Amino acid sequence: MTNPIVNLSDIQTARERIAGKIVRTPTVLSTGLSERLGVPVHLKLEHRQTTGSFKLRGASNAVASLSADGKRLGVVAASTGNHGRALAHAAKLEGIRAVICMSRLVPENKVSEIRRLGADICIVGKSQDDAQEEVDRLVAEEGLTMVPPFDHAAVIAGQGTVGLEMLDDVPDAAMVVTPVSGGGLAAGVAAAIKGRNPSIKVIGVSMERGAAMQASLAAGKPVLVEEMPTLADSLGGGIGLENRLTFSMIRDLLDGIVLVSEEEIAAGIVHAYAEEREIVEGAGAVGIAALLAGKIAVEGPVVILMSGRNIDMALHRKIVCGEWAA
Ligand SMILES: *Cc1c(COP(=O)(O)O)cnc(C)c1O
Repeated sequence: MTNPIVNLSDIQTARERIAGKIVRTPTVLSTGLSERLGVPVHLKLEHRQTTGSFKLRGASNAVASLSADGKRLGVVAASTGNHGRALAHAAKLEGIRAVICMSRLVPENKVSEIRRLGADICIVGKSQDDAQEEVDRLVAEEGLTMVPPFDHAAVIAGQGTVGLEMLDDVPDAAMVVTPVSGGGLAAGVAAAIKGRNPSIKVIGVSMERGAAMQASLAAGKPVLVEEMPTLADSLGGGIGLENRLTFSMIRDLLDGIVLVSEEEIAAGIVHAYAEEREIVEGAGAVGIAALLAGKIAVEGPVVILMSGRNIDMALHRKIVCGEWAA
């Protein structure tokens, strides 16, 4: 294993920096999954994090790492999803300005949710690219600091604190299973886990419909994949053709990535709800989905990371009532 770009000590520093700003989420044993798999299966309930996902850890660490000038001028991002929510909340807690740029096509409920968290909303153009252009302008002309959703050292270190907590709770873990999209979460978690004990396996899970990291690993460099609608919408989007950090960290640190279908993701959401009594979004259910589908050669004890819960509740109801079909 080569020395990762973000290492265990960066993640330990992040943990001290964000302590008290995030929830220290619990890890619980799933008796049902343990019985089914024949090894102890633990669930890291990170979907219970404030703002509904782990993204608050990376955003809080990035905000806390700003210079005095950086804090005075504020932060900006183009995300309408969990990263936007997290950055809005983290900035408010720190008493600094956050601007979240989005296109005119973003639905009003998403806009008002991020506004409610305390961010200034800037609505421009008709696409994510237009929103990103406005972010670049605010950085160049008004001196705001852009906080990207994954390809950023302080963000990766913040996400890695989930890994430290998992090992504190399950010190004899043999395997950790984490969702992968842009790879900030998996890179940070893997750096934390392998930094403590390189023999623990770290397996990533993405959805079949648009697995950008897996396609990039197969190609040996970051590549574009077609974006498709998926239940795991928080895993959508590319890894960036100019990816600097997460691609190489994932390549060097992960022991494999498996893909799950839409039906399998739905089954994961149903299991989380009916058997674990937890509400998770599609991205948060991919680990359970992969286990239930028999896609991972499980070594126990295994810890499954449940990453988020921001699902449209009408959709969730349909899925758990069996009224949803791919
Ligand atoms: C962002 C996100 C992921 C994926 O994280 P990456 O760092 O982009 O790989 C997984 N689950 C949820 C709920 C997310 O919001």
